[in-house]
Amino acid sequence: MSEFKESRYESMQYNRCGKSGLMLPKISLGCWHNFGAPDNLSEAKKMLSYAFNNGITHFDLANNYGPPPGHAETYVGKILSEEFSAHRDELIISSKAGYRMGPGPYGEWGSKKNLISSCDQSLKRLKLEYVDIFYSHRFDPNTPLEETISALDQIVRQGKALYIGISNYDPESTLKAIQIAKELGTPITIHQPNYNMLNRTVEKGLLDTCANNGVGMIVFCPLAQGLLTDKYLESIPAESRIDKAHGFLGKSQLTEGKIQMLKELNEIAKSRNQSLAQMALSWVARHDAVTSVLIGASKVSQIADNLKILSANQLSTDELMAIENCLVSNE
Ligand code: NDP
Repeated sequence: MSEFKESRYESMQYNRCGKSGLMLPKISLGCWHNFGAPDNLSEAKKMLSYAFNNGITHFDLANNYGPPPGHAETYVGKILSEEFSAHRDELIISSKAGYRMGPGPYGEWGSKKNLISSCDQSLKRLKLEYVDIFYSHRFDPNTPLEETISALDQIVRQGKALYIGISNYDPESTLKAIQIAKELGTPITIHQPNYNMLNRTVEKGLLDTCANNGVGMIVFCPLAQGLLTDKYLESIPAESRIDKAHGFLGKSQLTEGKIQMLKELNEIAKSRNQSLAQMALSWVARHDAVTSVLIGASKVSQIADNLKILSANQLSTDELMAIENCLVSNE
């Protein structure tokens, strides 16, 4: 069992998740990458402890995080039971179902069959009696939304989750999900979309939809999987996500044009004494609608670097304009 610092809550900011009672740290840690079988798991264990010691009370998972699928939950479950069992009530653990996890017709998407069984499997891997948030990982165009949302409602009523969320839903499906959940009596507490300087889709309606309906938002890939850092400006470093054989970031995403834009953004970051990573995080966190910024990390030192945004100056109007000009002129 680890001993954690008594001062762990002193520097973190906690934001209310929409209109719910749930408070989330301004920065949360996701376990999509770097918690798989090929990864450096001793560093992964250190990252969880370091995060918690610095007020990051929320760890985000999904059934399929690995590789292989399920590995991240199994590994985090082991660490939670060995190191964090005295602190379960201080932690927000989430999981999701919707992407391909198992073989056959019930191994993915949003049927009640998949969601209920997947939640049970996640709880076993995580060695937990309940998760704090359970998500529908993606909208399923072939399953009635009523079925998907009532499965989430049932999971809460069975005591297997405390709050429900949706991820990767567009504004229209989000509004429908909010309405259905309201009628069932288990509100949608949180939405988890992709948001960063290279993917601004949420600005076209989703930020407002969530804010106007009291739904919190935790944004994933705030660094575009590491592109929005200074690591790829000159070359592809060994052991970086692009360099790894597994994962979802390929060399093709690092075009000459993108490198040029990253270099320009890096200069703006330098002028305000931030790393590019820090500026990219401050940029997504600036919206009131964004409850938490869901980072990934491969090393403790990256979490330390990213936590510095907590004491950084807000982006000024001029800085926001400079960033906007850079993004628009490089579109
Ligand atoms: P990020 O965009 O934050 O990318 C994380 C990567 O950026 C790290 O692995 C590291 O790359 C690099 N990095 C982080 N901090 C620094 C730093 N200070 N300096 C240099 N490099 C840095 O997020 P992820 O793509 O990891 O996604 C975060 C979480 O979002 C996931 O773990 C998951 O929980 C969630 N998610 C949800 C999805 C959904 O559909 N709901 C989909 C995808 C993610 P490197 O490994 O190269 O060192």
